[in-house]
Amino acid sequence: MTLSGPTPEQWAAAVAAVRSLGADDEIQLICHVNPDGDALGSMLGFGLGLTRLGYTRVRATFPGEFAVPGPYSALPGSALLVPEAEAWTDPRLVAVFDVASESRLGGLAGRLTAAPVSVVLDHHASNTGFGTVRLVDPAAAATSVVAEQLLARLGVRLDAEIAECLYVALATDTGSFKFDMTTVAVHELAARLIATGIRPGEISRRIFDSKPFGAMKLTGEVIGRAVLEPGAAGGRGMVWTYATLADLERHAQQPYVLDTLIDPVRSVAEADVSVVVREVAAGEWSVSLRSKGAVDVSGVAVSQGGGGHRLAAGFTGYGEAAQVVDTVRRLLDEYLN
Ligand code: 5GP
Ligand code: MN
Repeated sequence: MTLSGPTPEQWAAAVAAVRSLGADDEIQLICHVNPDGDALGSMLGFGLGLTRLGYTRVRATFPGEFAVPGPYSALPGSALLVPEAEAWTDPRLVAVFDVASESRLGGLAGRLTAAPVSVVLDHHASNTGFGTVRLVDPAAAATSVVAEQLLARLGVRLDAEIAECLYVALATDTGSFKFDMTTVAVHELAARLIATGIRPGEISRRIFDSKPFGAMKLTGEVIGRAVLEPGAAGGRGMVWTYATLADLERHAQQPYVLDTLIDPVRSVAEADVSVVVREVAAGEWSVSLRSKGAVDVSGVAVSQGGGGHRLAAGFTGYGEAAQVVDTVRRLLDEYLN
């Protein structure tokens, strides 16, 4: 696993791929299933940049139901978004954002091979190396860092709309500038984005501090059933909880309201590892793993067909919630004993 970013040749190939396009050529942007702030923000920020360069047929999409999580529904560039079924079938260029493996592209994975050029912008160390031009920087705090660098190389000037998209992506993936990858360069990028006139306080309220009352009640219930296992993860401690589709239904909430559930769970001091298991379809669970530093949770995720980063990773699990947690507990023991 290397931490080196794109090579000069890869940057040049990405720039050449965009510059070779005619203004009316079809360009398809795709981000990962169940898109988060980085996926949508980096994709829409880049898409807006392409429109500034004069490209007229830019579409952005993601696999699955066409539902943009509430906090991201007002992002600039949302006009570029189309449902999966309306994605260009035969685009001249495909660019994908924040996608560590093709499985995260669902039914859209085939577009990559259909297009003459596919540019992959990502920051997951677990990226599997698909696409024809790979801009993968595991040292980048967010995919939006990579997107901004490519925009700069294409000569796009940051404006407030592009900046808002990239800022939302950066703020979400760094946990509001808290996580380990929050470097000098991250703050310098944030400064350049804020210099366009965007309002971080207003954006943060909209993205992080605005949820329905029912979401708070649901979160309270799910946190109330959390289990602390001090002996798990080789004695480093594990805390876990789960949320079912029935929980969402009982509180009349959308799945996205649980996207940040891992945050209060991972704040438990007695556990290095935190686990949140969310039901996404009957017997199918989205598993979020976090470590405070003692455990590389991406290893567990990758072994289950998922991916992520050393301290934040995830995968899809099947069966009962308790079975999924059993699997995580066992894999952690295998790694740590
Ligand atoms: P989260 O827990 O916030 O959903 O995801 C944490 C990290 O793990 C993110 O970097 C995300 O991209 C990655 N991740 C989560 N679920 C999956 C998955 O099913 N497959 C892959 N490849 N990565 C995942
Ligand atoms: Mn990301």
